[in-house]
Amino acid sequence: MKVLARKDLPDVLKNWSDSYDVFAPSMKETGDVIFDRFDADTFTLEYGKPSLPQKSEFLPQSEVIFELKKGEYREVMAGSGKMLFGMRACDVMGMRQAGSFMKRDVTDPYYKSKEEGILKVVMACSGPQNETCFCTTVGSGPFAEAGFDLQFYDLGDEFLVEAESERGKQLIADGFFGEIDAAEAGTKIEEFKVHASKAIKEVPALKEAMERLRDGSVSEKVWDYFGRKCIVCGGCAFVCPTCTCFTVSDFQTQPGEGLRVRSWDACLFGGFTREASGHNPRGTQALRLKRRHEHKLLYYNETDVLEGLCGCVGCGRCSDYCPVHIGTLEVVKAIAED
Ligand code: SF4
Ligand code: SF4
Repeated sequence: MKVLARKDLPDVLKNWSDSYDVFAPSMKETGDVIFDRFDADTFTLEYGKPSLPQKSEFLPQSEVIFELKKGEYREVMAGSGKMLFGMRACDVMGMRQAGSFMKRDVTDPYYKSKEEGILKVVMACSGPQNETCFCTTVGSGPFAEAGFDLQFYDLGDEFLVEAESERGKQLIADGFFGEIDAAEAGTKIEEFKVHASKAIKEVPALKEAMERLRDGSVSEKVWDYFGRKCIVCGGCAFVCPTCTCFTVSDFQTQPGEGLRVRSWDACLFGGFTREASGHNPRGTQALRLKRRHEHKLLYYNETDVLEGLCGCVGCGRCSDYCPVHIGTLEVVKAIAED
């Protein structure tokens, strides 16, 4: 454990930028904060929960996976020397779960090639980032237990900095980071963790919903209701850190040449589950919504869930962004009321 004065953080990030492509929270002219290449003038720590998880660093919205050009076949394995500074713990758990899925039976080489080079630096949450956070209920936050290189604990004038990986230890070996007595650091971190965890509301209805899904007692009326409301935009899947559905398309760029591209898809789209015969095993929006929430709360493989409770990491983004209010929080509430 090391300590860093708050005033030194921009210099540290600038220093790291010499070796890594550092992405950090950046305040734009519009007032929006997005993760962008580090710039000392726009860097901010007032960023709450980023509107998107960083899953596109590993599974881009659209990526070329091979190309055929001048008679040559070339597989595209893009690596990355990026550092993601300021990740939230729920998103680290989301990445761990998505990564576990993408490497469970057969390792996805395109995912792996990106994941290997990325440095993950977490900013532990001192409380909820907004009213939809429920990381404590599902065991994904407010601080990361594993899967990061460095984790910062914001104590006001200073940060305590914890390294989990060898690469993380090397990053904090320079002169900006001071030593701190282990017992003193332990006490401060414990106080931070207890305070932060208490500040985040528990959602007991989620565990109840998991039980109800397990014993099959959820009425189809719940899904019919949501199925009628859903406008099939796919937003809930695209903002979700654990959603990894994709589709693959081939494009001819000119005669004899072309690309294979994979892009995000969503189980909420009818075409995603439609079979070549035309039969669709989940032929209604109600069934597709049921499947999505079963995937998050019931079926997710235990080897993918890791230390979490289920396939949802409690980031709350589906509740933040669904235009017709069909996030996990709304669904577990409806199941509880069913
Ligand atoms: S299901 Fe919703 S709350 Fe859960 S991880 Fe996905 S976006 Fe976040
Ligand atoms: S964000 Fe809402 S409206 Fe859009 S697909 Fe998901 S549940 Fe349906």
